[in-house]
Amino acid sequence: MAYSKLVKPGQRIRLDDLDTAEDGGLSKEEGKQLSAELSTRLGELQELMFAARETALLVVLQGRDTGGKDGVAKCLMRAMHAPSCRVVSFKAPTPDELARDFLWRVHREVPAKGFCTIFNRSHYEDVLVVRVRRLAPEKVWRPRYDRINDFERLLVENGTIVLKFFLHISREEQEKRLLDREKDPVKAWKLNVEDWKDRSLWDSYTKAYEEALRRCSTEEAPWRIVPADRKWFRDLAIIEAVGDALEPFRVRWMDRLERMSRETRRELEEYRRSMGQQAQESAGV
Ligand code: AMP
Ligand code: MG
Repeated sequence: MAYSKLVKPGQRIRLDDLDTAEDGGLSKEEGKQLSAELSTRLGELQELMFAARETALLVVLQGRDTGGKDGVAKCLMRAMHAPSCRVVSFKAPTPDELARDFLWRVHREVPAKGFCTIFNRSHYEDVLVVRVRRLAPEKVWRPRYDRINDFERLLVENGTIVLKFFLHISREEQEKRLLDREKDPVKAWKLNVEDWKDRSLWDSYTKAYEEALRRCSTEEAPWRIVPADRKWFRDLAIIEAVGDALEPFRVRWMDRLERMSRETRRELEEYRRSMGQQAQESAGV
């Protein structure tokens, strides 16, 4: 079953109506067991994708502070073939980046065929933080929904699977995590006052997320909402959704690899035959 919620194109979402503490009717132990099985499947599929070099995978992670973007990236990296998979984190743009269009820094980081890139934050910040914190006027950010849809369509047309996840935590869970983190001697460094400022803008972010989910969930690059108050369930939902998105390609990638293997075998046989002929010639047969 699907543990995340797929947003249909144009669908109006009310985040407050969606349960952030969903557990899919599973115990934590059952969830972890299922995650382990689905991680193995994901690892196999991603290795096929890498070898076949036909398709790329882009995973976009968005969510509020402490929503679990780092945790999910770590969990996906554990499942996947490390040399072909990487994480890119998007922070506030540098002056150099701000001097270009908002997609410039993003487009440079998209995965090549065979590879996987996980975006920890993304081009969506340009219609989220930029809108909520008024970092640019509306006439600048408003047209970006269309630009984002065009950009993602371009990636899909070029053979990229684009998967976008909104990690949905509750206001209470965020407060708990921020306070826990502050007490943690090795994690407190991750915090900054901006996290608390963003928290005070909770409702404005909700509105901005709801519009991004509605306007940028397309047939080719849909959004999925992941209940994220329970970390084990959040990881399960993502591992499942990424595997489900790759599964339909399995047969095609295997066919391609079999074709490539037949070709390699043919070259090897030809090489051995020519070596045999040379040996006979030099023996004067
Ligand atoms: P974090 O991911 O919590 O380490 O922090 C990264 C910070 O960079 C967040 O506060 C984001 O809102 C901010 N950020 C990321 N992309 C942009 C952007 N395009 N414009 C402004 N701020 C951004
Ligand atoms: Mg932060």
